Amino acid sequence: MANSLISSEVPFDTDGKHTGFLRLPHSTHQSAYGWIPIPICVLKNGEGPTILISAGNHGDEYEGQIAVTHLIRTLTANDIRGRVILMPTVNAPAAGAGTRTSPIDGGNLNRGFPGDAAGTPTQMIAHYLESVLLPMCDYAVDLHSGGTSLVYPATTLRGPAHSPQEETGLSLLYDAFDLPYAWVFTGGGGTGSTARTAMGAANRNGVINVMAELGGGGTVDRDVLALTARGLRRILHAVGCLPDYTPDAKRGTRALHVQGSVYAYDTGLFEPTRDIGDDVQQGDILGLIHDPATPWRNAIEVTSPYTGIILAKRHLGQVRRGDAIAQIAQDADR
Ligand SMILES: [Zn+2]
Repeated sequence: MANSLISSEVPFDTDGKHTGFLRLPHSTHQSAYGWIPIPICVLKNGEGPTILISAGNHGDEYEGQIAVTHLIRTLTANDIRGRVILMPTVNAPAAGAGTRTSPIDGGNLNRGFPGDAAGTPTQMIAHYLESVLLPMCDYAVDLHSGGTSLVYPATTLRGPAHSPQEETGLSLLYDAFDLPYAWVFTGGGGTGSTARTAMGAANRNGVINVMAELGGGGTVDRDVLALTARGLRRILHAVGCLPDYTPDAKRGTRALHVQGSVYAYDTGLFEPTRDIGDDVQQGDILGLIHDPATPWRNAIEVTSPYTGIILAKRHLGQVRRGDAIAQIAQDADR
């Protein structure tokens, strides 16, 4: 299997429901022959498409981890046609620590594709996904959120299609997910800023894929979790893997093109004056940076360099120069 040192306890080609771990060899002072366990569930039932649903790529993004865990507990092989591969914590060390990056090697998995079979644990995971798992797949969904520092509403991320078949497949996932917002990329995929992400890895394998931003701030939002759970079952049904599920009525998605992030240029405490979903004009004040260490100094206004709506917002109160405090997007024509 593509020279990966990671081995799977579960079979990928045997009908039934199989749960266990990927074993990532990791020799340490306290565990000379040890391995890092990465939980995986493979459900297979006859012929049909293969879909990978992953979460915990960033360890501090929780709605996806819960939604995939719930799918593992509730789906049976009889429910499935084809093959469903479920991984709630793809970067298991990061998920165990509740951190964006791995505590073992500092690796950011979603900046680490295509990975390295002989690299650090995070690089080995990226390589396994890119070179072993994704080549088995027709579809892939990688679930994120704003993490500790940002908050998003439930948002689908999709790239551009490069063929009519890819457009059909992407629209299928996009429409089925049916989240309130979508961040539609106009470029990227195999190159550019998405090349090092799970989306780039899937695209290089010809796998129809979307990602999602689902809440954030290091918490679990009940409404976002419900939208995630609903969307994943709708996706499984749409691709043909969950035939007996009856999706409810479509609610519709507001498609957006991201204009860019707004950054803090000063250190202090950020007081937002606008919220997610608000319309803003270029030059509008998005918030104030206060300096309690020099409290007689005037607060600094942070203005938007873009016109659009606020898609994402910083969650943490403390800011330093270079921190993103908001992301601004405009309506897109799909
Ligand atoms: Zn993420």
